[in-house]
Amino acid sequence: MRPTIARVALPVPLDKQFDYLIPPHLFPIIGGRVSVPFGRQTLVGVVTALVNHSEFSEQQLKSIKQVLDSQPVWPEKLYQLLHWCSQFYQYPLGDTLLNAMPSALRKGKEADFAALVEWRLTAAGRDQLMVGFGRAVKQAKVMHMLESGPVAHQTFIDEEIGSAVLKTLVEKGWIESIENKPVVRDWSKDVEADVDKPKLNTEQAVAIATVNSSQGFGCFLLEGVTGSGKTEVYLNLIKPVLEKGQQALVLVPEIGLTPQTINRFKKRFNVPVEVIHSGLNETERLNSWLCARDKAAGIVIGTRSALLTPFADLGIIIVDEEHDTSYKQQDSLRYHARDVAVMRANKEQIPIVLGSATPALETLHNALVGKYHHLVLSNRAGSAVPTTNKVLNIKGAYLESGLSAALIAEMRKHLQAGNQVMLFLNRRGFSPALMCHECGWIAECKRCDAYYTYHQNSNEIRCHHCGSQQPIIHQCQGCGSTHLVTVGVGTEQLENQLAELFPEFKTIRIDRDSTRRKGSLESALTSIRNGEYQILIGTQMLAKGHHFPDVTLVALLDVDGSLYSSDFRASERLAQLFIQVAGRAGRASKPGEVVLQTHHPEHSLLQALLTKSYRHFADTALQERKLAMLPPFSFLTMFRAESNHSEQVESFLRQVRHTLEAHPLFDEFCMVLGPTPAPLAKRAGKYRWQLLLQAQNRSTMQKLLASAKPAIQILPDAKKVRWTLDIEPQDLS
Ligand code: ADP
Ligand code: ZN
Ligand code: ZN
Repeated sequence: MRPTIARVALPVPLDKQFDYLIPPHLFPIIGGRVSVPFGRQTLVGVVTALVNHSEFSEQQLKSIKQVLDSQPVWPEKLYQLLHWCSQFYQYPLGDTLLNAMPSALRKGKEADFAALVEWRLTAAGRDQLMVGFGRAVKQAKVMHMLESGPVAHQTFIDEEIGSAVLKTLVEKGWIESIENKPVVRDWSKDVEADVDKPKLNTEQAVAIATVNSSQGFGCFLLEGVTGSGKTEVYLNLIKPVLEKGQQALVLVPEIGLTPQTINRFKKRFNVPVEVIHSGLNETERLNSWLCARDKAAGIVIGTRSALLTPFADLGIIIVDEEHDTSYKQQDSLRYHARDVAVMRANKEQIPIVLGSATPALETLHNALVGKYHHLVLSNRAGSAVPTTNKVLNIKGAYLESGLSAALIAEMRKHLQAGNQVMLFLNRRGFSPALMCHECGWIAECKRCDAYYTYHQNSNEIRCHHCGSQQPIIHQCQGCGSTHLVTVGVGTEQLENQLAELFPEFKTIRIDRDSTRRKGSLESALTSIRNGEYQILIGTQMLAKGHHFPDVTLVALLDVDGSLYSSDFRASERLAQLFIQVAGRAGRASKPGEVVLQTHHPEHSLLQALLTKSYRHFADTALQERKLAMLPPFSFLTMFRAESNHSEQVESFLRQVRHTLEAHPLFDEFCMVLGPTPAPLAKRAGKYRWQLLLQAQNRSTMQKLLASAKPAIQILPDAKKVRWTLDIEPQDLS
């Protein structure tokens, strides 16, 4: 019997699906999109079931307006994975599915290359450019946009240029459309390009053989310092996959997607490579997505969201720098791309390789207990040599804009030898606070529980939490004194100080303020490599994925915040940063040195890290986590809630706590911590509280949450606050 009702998942924040009647002339399919009336709107949704009964009568149901797909949007296994994500991360199915599509599909556009039209100039059009366009401003705009090459149709729509203008230009014979449908070809016969390849060392050969010999699903941790030849292993693993006619997915951290990375894959193989990142426009993104789905691409390299790309025939997944924090999405579907990648490999029955010099403690733990295979590259394949590491005790020392005299002397030595020096300070702006010298009043954001950061370059004070800003205050709002002083050091101030200390050397600052313009980070990195600057200042941004062979001294100016942070992962992050910068400094002819400034040189984690290795640090840290019953020895879920009224938020989370504790699945191995005010207790006018659920067993936590959530949703205060669930949170602030 032909089904009469379609169950549709819609992008609305409700944990349920909606029934619609199927008109006789329409044929919706499961996993395909439809457009439906919803209230006064029309929404695009995904059909999740075709049935004959609904709890509503036919008169109460509306009909599907349009069927948008004749084949499912996702291959079956990916579709199942998305259902799993929705359940695991406790995020509504409709939102999960719609968020996992390119925005073009979310808007109801055709899932076909045919929709991807581009425009270009004709010869006559080029001639006309010389003549000009008189008062036809829009026409002139289009023509000039096309001057440097073809432009996607969507770009004109984004620029609010209507089809009429394009049509006029076509009629004049000045522009024409091109359909750039990628060719789907069989690349498996000629996979590898004719390039020089290094002879593999034994550890690399063993790693490759181990992965290749596994059948079906297998998860491999490839642990090796920077330069130990991990990428070379990836390339060797991908080759036989492509030769079998299968595809490869390579995930990299947000900042790691540099032209150098991409080129290494493009140069090595003769197969089409698609690159997916957040900077793509709507058409480019749909294009890449279709290339992977229709097998026009052999390799997809991308950041977090590339994980949810459909593939015709996926053969392997690589997650490079698997410990990187950018793999965890911090809003909407708060998934961890590394963890979901492992799940995906499992569903697809293919191998997955997690590569890192500094594996996340969760991953390392899985390898140590034998859940993951552990592959180690212990030698540097290239010519780099290990750095020497040093702690500078700054207890009681005089600091000049955060620099101790010993560090300044060290810097001078390296600079005078003609090398580069890199300084890390994780604080943007000139100074983290502006204070009255007479009464101690500090300029505070009115909307947040936070101080304003003083930005000298732009002449303003800015809140780094809500983004509000105002001109610099010159008078204390407490006592009226005009004697205001800055407290603490940010990257801007450090930059000024260095110009004074080392006038003969050039300094460049890399942080979110200095790299706001598109492409500015890339050009800054190039000029650093060309030796235009001798002193580099940066936040974490500078550490990731960039190799600077002429840097021989790296200094972390303030590590104490990470040693004594309320976030139990802070020391792990510090260790990862440390190893990362150490791994990128120097080369054989120019050995590198890494210096840490701290008030706590005796700290055990610091000692393990400095005098031994990341592994020693990790072992120590894992023991501490075990004693404290923290992940990976337990599983956490963070409830966050906010509203304009602090009492409401607290009371809601208290109700959540009671609901959880009273639940039959809440066993003696579960614990609730809180409610407590969030580390940033007020942001943009909203009071923020949090509650942490800890369980010893992942499936207990899952079942408990799934079963308690409906009760939480109908709590008296649930409607009064904005609340979210973060499963296995990475950031506790
Ligand atoms: P990682 O990804 O671990 O940082 P790479 O694969 O990029 O390491 O290797 C670092 C450098 O060493 C690259 O220039 C690479 O070509 C080279 N390399 C890799 N493996 C070998 C090898 N077995 N012999 C010689 N050079 C190698
Ligand atoms: Zn603010
Ligand atoms: Zn004052």
